[in-house]
Amino acid sequence: MKVIKSRGPEIFDIELEKDLLAKNRYLAKENKKRFDRSNILAIDIMGSIGSGKTSMIKAILKKLGMSKKIAVIAGDLTTTIDAERIEREGARVIQVNTGRECHLDANLIHQAIKRMNLDGVKVLFIENVGNLICPGEFPLGAHKRLVVTSVTEGPYMIVKHPYIFREADVIVLNKIDLAKAMKVNLSQLEKDAKKINPHAPFIKTNALSGIGISKIINTLGLKT
Ligand code: MG
Ligand code: ZN
Repeated sequence: MKVIKSRGPEIFDIELEKDLLAKNRYLAKENKKRFDRSNILAIDIMGSIGSGKTSMIKAILKKLGMSKKIAVIAGDLTTTIDAERIEREGARVIQVNTGRECHLDANLIHQAIKRMNLDGVKVLFIENVGNLICPGEFPLGAHKRLVVTSVTEGPYMIVKHPYIFREADVIVLNKIDLAKAMKVNLSQLEKDAKKINPHAPFIKTNALSGIGISKIINTLGLKT
């Protein structure tokens, strides 16, 4: 079969892109310093649209029951739906609307934490924009990066997105209750993940019923 491969950006874009990624890395380090100064554990939650990122955060908040110590930055193109869903659990939440941008970047997080009251906050969840491609390229300064995928995305979601799964410290497979209906083989998905990233713990969840949520809490060391 004939395959055409991209050889990367056009020549006139290369310098621009390098510059952008370098600036992002610099600001990500600044953000991390800020978190460390205040003893805040920051977790970047990436994953495609509808994989269950918000539901997972809600389930964790419910289980921990210490929501005043948890803050959330919800990234989304234009809406405040997810922030409102999280706010109902009692956590401090700030919405970052990215407009046309398909990922959060370190500068947006830098701006957001300047405007947030982080007094007493121990854990900061950052819900990235739903997308399995570019969020991986833009570290935000979080201590851990978690990728959520779900069985409703079909059997090839992990093998098709190796870059973001390689970036992950933790991989979550959500909606496992629907595996049969979707004809998805859970252990095959786990094998795919282990092949790309042997070090990241692979956690199977159903965020709506709470299955696997304690495992995420333990793996991230959220129990204080
Ligand atoms: Mg969401
Ligand atoms: Zn993007």
